[in-house]
This record gives sequence, C-alpha cells and structure tokens, in this order.
Amino acid sequence: MKQFHVQNFIAGQFLGAQSQKTISNMAPATNQNIGSIPQSQKEDVDLAVQAALNACPTWSALSSNERSQWLSRIAQGIEKYFDDFAALESLDTGKPISLCKNLDIPRAIQNFRFFSEILNQSPTRYYELSQSFSYYRRKPLGVVGLITPWNLPLYLLSWKIAPALAMGNTIVAKPSELTPLTAHRLCQLLEEIGFPPGVFNLIHGYGQEAAEPIVSHKKVNAISFTGGTATGKQVNQTASQSFKKISLELGGKNPTLVFSDAPLKQTIEGVFKSSFLNQGQICLCGSRILIEDSIYEDFKMALIKRIKECRIGDPSHDDTNFGSLISHAHREKVEKYVQMAKDEGGKVLVGGQRPKLVAPFNEGAFFEPTLVEGLDQTCKVIQEEVFGPLVTLQKFHSEEEALQLANDTGYGLAASLWTQNLSRAHRVAAKIEVGTVWVNTWLLRDLRVPFGGVKASGVGREGGELSLDFFSEPQTICMFTGSSQ
Ligand code: NAD
Repeated sequence: MKQFHVQNFIAGQFLGAQSQKTISNMAPATNQNIGSIPQSQKEDVDLAVQAALNACPTWSALSSNERSQWLSRIAQGIEKYFDDFAALESLDTGKPISLCKNLDIPRAIQNFRFFSEILNQSPTRYYELSQSFSYYRRKPLGVVGLITPWNLPLYLLSWKIAPALAMGNTIVAKPSELTPLTAHRLCQLLEEIGFPPGVFNLIHGYGQEAAEPIVSHKKVNAISFTGGTATGKQVNQTASQSFKKISLELGGKNPTLVFSDAPLKQTIEGVFKSSFLNQGQICLCGSRILIEDSIYEDFKMALIKRIKECRIGDPSHDDTNFGSLISHAHREKVEKYVQMAKDEGGKVLVGGQRPKLVAPFNEGAFFEPTLVEGLDQTCKVIQEEVFGPLVTLQKFHSEEEALQLANDTGYGLAASLWTQNLSRAHRVAAKIEVGTVWVNTWLLRDLRVPFGGVKASGVGREGGELSLDFFSEPQTICMFTGSSQ
C-alpha cells in the first residue's frame, strides 16, 4: 500500500512536529496503514501563528482584485489535479470515488471560484445625511483559525479558506486527524503555484493538542469551527476567554417530512439520498423520516426496495455507491445505536449488519444502510445525532403533528419537506426550527445564501456576503461635508 507521510505546512515549508511524534493514518475501507501525520502540539501552533502574523501585512495590503486572482489560481490548480484529489479523498474517508468526483472536489473548486468572484462584486455601503456621509469598509481580522471535521474534508476546509483569504486574513488551519490527505495535497499545490509563504499554514494532529492551542492563542482573532456539538461547546468556552469572533457549525438530527401528495418515485430517490449519501455522514442528512400515515406502508416498502439496490464495497470502483464509515470506532458507535433502537422497542426493517465483503474490504469499517421503525419520540435514537447510516421512520396524522415531531429535538440544522401543496410548503417551512429547509430537494446549495443552524446545531451563519462579514471587521468612516455658510 502506498504510504503518505504528511507534514505540517508552516511559512511555506513542510515540517514534522517539533516533538518528532507522529500518528498513523489508516484507510477506513481496508483498515490498512497508509502513512502518518505529525502529532503537533502548542509549540507547532506557535510557529504557525508567528508565520501567519509575519505574512499578514503583505497579504492584507494586496488589492481585492489580486487576492481574487489567487483564489482563482487555486481553483484552477485543484482542477488540474482533479483525479489526484478525488482519489486521495476516497482513500482517506472510505467514501465512493464517484462521490468525490461529483461532490467533494467539484465543490472545493467551486468554493474558491465563488469567493474569487463575489469579492469583486461586493459593494461598499454608503449612507448620506444632510451634512455628512458615511461608508463602511471591511478590514481583515488578522490571523484566523479554521478547524474542520472528517466527513467532507476538502469541501468544508475550502469553504472557510476561500472567504478568509478573500478578506485579507492569514490562516492557521487544522483538519481532522482522520482525514489529512487532501489538505496536505492542497499545501503541495500552494507551493507549486508560488502562493505567498505564511499566508496559509496547516497543522496536523489531535484536536486537544493541535487545535485547542489555536483556539486559545491570543494572536488568533477568529475561529471558524465545524464539527460535533460537544467539541463546539468546548471551543466556544475557550474562545470566549479572549473575546474572539466565533462561528460554530455543529451537529444535526434533521427531519424529512413526507406528505401524502408527494410523488412517490421522485420522493423516494430524494429521501434515499438525503438519508444515506456519504453513508449518512453529512451533517445535513435527514436521519428522521416523518411520513403521513395514509402513505406510510407504501413509502416504507418503496424505500426498503431502494436501499436494497445499494452497491456496497470497494470505494475506488466507479459503480460503488455506498462506501465504508470513517473508522471502526465510528462503526461501533453506530452499532451501539442500532442495539439501543432494538432495546427501545424498534424494529430493524433493513440493514443493521456489517456487510459480507471480500478481502481486503472485509477488514473495513463498512455498515449496511439501516432503517428502523417503531420508536417513540423520546428514544435516544430519535433524539441524539448518530451521524451514520441509521435512519428512523415515524408516522404523523396531521401537519401539526408533523411539525411537533420535527421540532422536538435539541438540534436545528436543516429539514427537507416533500409535498406538491405550495401553500403547505411555505407554511410548514416557516415553522420548522432549522437554519435551512429544502422543499422537494435536498443538499442543493446556492453559495450566496446563509448557511448554519439554530439550537445545538450552531452559532452564526456562513455563506456569500455573510462569510465575508464573518472574516472581516466593519469599519465606519463618517465625513462631515459642512454647511454652506
Ligand atoms: P469533532 O468535533 O470530533 O472534530 C472536529 C474537529 O475539531 C477536528 O479537527 C478535531 O480534531 C477538532 N477538535 C477536537 N477536539 C477539539 C478541541 N478540544 N478543541 C478544538 N478542536 C478540537 O467532529 P468530527 O467527528 O470530526 O465530525 C463530525 C461532526 O461534525 C458531526 O457532529 C457533524 O454533524 C458535524 N458537522 C457539522 C457540519 C455543519 O456544517 N454544521 C458539517 C460537517 C460536520
């Protein structure tokens, strides 16, 4: 198996951890070792922050047009090495290569291109009174810290890097220790295109050792964090000690509402995707399907049939559409929830097992897409985020009941609702307590609109102008124009 010995990227140099310690990196689909990453600590973070501070004056002094050109060059570079990035992402995560080629890597390219373009279109606001006018400009924050999870590694990292760079900040980033490869490949690309050293710095390692020192560092002025709710709480507490700007994109327990007038074929396909894309490991996946009672049985049977068509196995095969979970530890967590569902009186309708695969995939962290019915709203499996291929079915009788079930968890990230009734779509969407509602679709993203969650799903919004706002400090300039005497 080819080995990838990933290093930190600090001031344009590839470096190991100063302690020389490393962590092994395993391919989840085979459980084989594929290399190592530095086990970085505070001393490595300090070096990276210093590099970012040194690079800040020059980078922030570039015109927005120059920064926009850099973002566009990065997008072109990822495009040039598209297959390489896709293969690395699939190897590191165990997700199907087709998903990397159709979602992860195209979206990373789009993130850089999108912020390159809106940077040049973003207006300066101007306000006039009889004897004055005011305008405000966005100033860079300085050094910002970006911390990301393993489920969409380059997609989510680039969603933060692009607007942070666009606004003239310099960066210290920490990807998940489970998925370092595409972040490292991005650094190799930056070196190749001559990107200014120190503007983007990358630290690898465990969260507590390598990310917490970024959050607590006095010279880091903002933290954009995407990850679990429990980690987000800790990040929030640490960051608040030094009054940093903070954006938290956290977990979800998203409802999917299916009304009886939804066209069955199209809805089954959409709901199947929203339940199990990326093995259910997308924060936006709908893990609770609420179905109007009059179509419950038909919908259930059609969804079971669709799930049985899944092609599970070697993620590098073009026709595999269901890969492995991120790790054996994560599979055990999902299995615990399946057992809990049974203990809580649920019935497993399909899945619930490790699939039987040939070597070397028999050693991988695969788990079948699983559907459970018969659970009460108060059950842990209904209330807690599993973040895997375990989805529950519940019946509702009325719109009010559907809303009550949809809103009755501690999370509030996203929902999808499936109906042909336009008035109901608007009425129900407005009453769901989430940051995003999709109607008759799922995961369709216009990058200009706000993205984020309510309740335990996060604090703040990113996307379009809101990302530019987050990664900058507004400064007002008020000019007295005087009176005519
Ligand atoms: P995680 O919280 O375990 O880790 C996320 C990142 O935080 C990793 O880089 C990790 O090393 C780092 N980290 C760990 N401890 C830390 C600490 N004490 N201080 C600072 N950083 C620390 O999450 P995960 O398991 O990698 O990802 C899965 C979670 O992410 C799920 O809950 C999922 O819903 C959530 N997620 C949310 C969104 C969103 O946009 N809302 C998107 C993707 C994933």
